[in-house]
Amino acid sequence: MTTQPLYLQDAYLKEMDAKILETIPEGEKRWQLVLDKTIFYPMGGGQPTDQGLLSSKNWQGKVYQVLQRGDKIIHFVEAQQIPPIGSSVQGAINWERRYLHMRLHSAGHVVDFALFLLGLSPHPLMPFKGDHGKKPVIWYLGTIENDFRESLEKKAAELIKRDLKFSFRFVNFDELEREAIYVQPGLPKNKPLRLLTLEGIGSVADGGTQVHHTSEIGSIMIPKIEINEGMTLVHYRI
Ligand SMILES: [Zn+2]
Repeated sequence: MTTQPLYLQDAYLKEMDAKILETIPEGEKRWQLVLDKTIFYPMGGGQPTDQGLLSSKNWQGKVYQVLQRGDKIIHFVEAQQIPPIGSSVQGAINWERRYLHMRLHSAGHVVDFALFLLGLSPHPLMPFKGDHGKKPVIWYLGTIENDFRESLEKKAAELIKRDLKFSFRFVNFDELEREAIYVQPGLPKNKPLRLLTLEGIGSVADGGTQVHHTSEIGSIMIPKIEINEGMTLVHYRI
């Protein structure tokens, strides 16, 4: 039994109807629910978990955390009791929280694309990981001598001002390797992968939620670039 991740196709879905596939008791008034499909983004790829509500006619549960396990997406729910397996439920995400995380995540990619345009990524700075939560930062393997904070901030501002479009499509690993500006290690070779494209700039593999246009992000600040044990940490804010 698997969960269809609706947020991968359309990150702007705020409500859904779904069916309960599995229920696992988690503790007092807490359960894990597996649904047949979901708009709830599970914590991962540096993007925090979605939160929100699941409900049916006589029932309501608060989703406080969402995690992916294999092909299943687990909704951690707080409620007095839960409906039986097979029941239909409605879901609504906390959109304010999600939209902030989408904007932060897309901002991280704008910074990354800006670094690419400056000729600094993927060489000599190789993207390693991103954290797009409360203290957004992108980690790069490698370091360089000169201070590029200001030129990076300027290039990111330019990409926002041009109001470029984010789009994506599903490709296999070979296509991804051909088209992406870099390929992060550990991507599955036997599954469709989502290729994210920033209009006219380039593409990378990505499974998170993104805004449609760079203007939605607002402005990007680069308060600090830190060097730590052979890694470069680019801190950013929106
Ligand atoms: Zn991403």
